[in-house]
Amino acid sequence: DVKRSGRGAYQFFSQAMNERARERTAIEAMLRQAVKTGAFELHYQPRICLSSRRAVAVEALVRLKNVNALIAPSRFIRIAEETGLIVPIGRWVIEQVCRQLQEWAGTDLQNLRISLNVSPVQTRRDDFYSSLVAMAAKYGVDPAQIELEITESSLVESELSVTTCMKHLKEAGFTISLDDFGTGYSSFSYLNRLPIDTLKIDRSFIHEVGSSQGALVVEAILALSRALGKRVVAEGVETLEQLEWLQARGCNEGQGFFFAFPAIAEELAAGLRMRGFLKA
Ligand code: C2E
Ligand code: MG
Ligand code: MG
Ligand code: MG
Repeated sequence: DVKRSGRGAYQFFSQAMNERARERTAIEAMLRQAVKTGAFELHYQPRICLSSRRAVAVEALVRLKNVNALIAPSRFIRIAEETGLIVPIGRWVIEQVCRQLQEWAGTDLQNLRISLNVSPVQTRRDDFYSSLVAMAAKYGVDPAQIELEITESSLVESELSVTTCMKHLKEAGFTISLDDFGTGYSSFSYLNRLPIDTLKIDRSFIHEVGSSQGALVVEAILALSRALGKRVVAEGVETLEQLEWLQARGCNEGQGFFFAFPAIAEELAAGLRMRGFLKA
């Protein structure tokens, strides 16, 4: 009896593994093809300054284009990292961002910075820095308009390459933020040693500000960022209550569904204009 149920559990387990392996193979094939044809799409989500109520930056978020649907990064970024495909994907993202900034020059969107997510697999390559600088130059973009989001966990995984790279990037005028702050088990010593301008508090903490324990944690992060002179952004702001709570405690900026969903550039612009998030 024990044997039989053991085998059943094994079969169930191996079926689930097969399913995952199939999904993985399918995504990997799609990624290889997409890298050749540029079958990706960038969506942008604004970051709103909580005191002026204006958009100050937008985050570029990549999607993989399938026949008639978009595939979310949660389903392909890890596979892209493991296969190295994140390198050409990242290059595509950087070029689109530079092109977008060039397109916005001279319009009511020209003061928006664009932030993009950087994988440690990208910064581990020697040419990351130089190709980023070259791309900005190609499109006449000031590096100050580009913000690089690095996750806290990538600092832990590959300290040396990321930290050296960050120092060069900072010297060249790029802005650097620490993404998903609070989830990466990093030591606070990073915060003083690295040229980090901005902390983005992970949305899991923002969801908890309604509880007394959750509120204490976010208050502590806000106090820490203030003491270190870092700008602080709340990710995943979904409700007016969360917004008002953060505003009352001096959080600099917010990003989340309360303000806007990620959208293609044209929709982003229309939404920002309609909701009065751009400077008059
Ligand atoms: P992230 O950098 O932390 O980006 C924020 C994610 O939270 C986005 O998910 C965004 O759609 C989602 N989000 C924004 N506001 C809210 C909210 O109010 N509530 C909730 N529940 N979610 C919200 P998305 O676009 O699916 O991206 C997921 C992750 O994939 C990103 O997390 C980032 O780590 C990664 N990613 C996205 N684009 C790229 C890229 O171009 N390169 C790399 N390396 N990673 C990327
Ligand atoms: Mg991010
Ligand atoms: Mg994040
Ligand atoms: Mg995240």
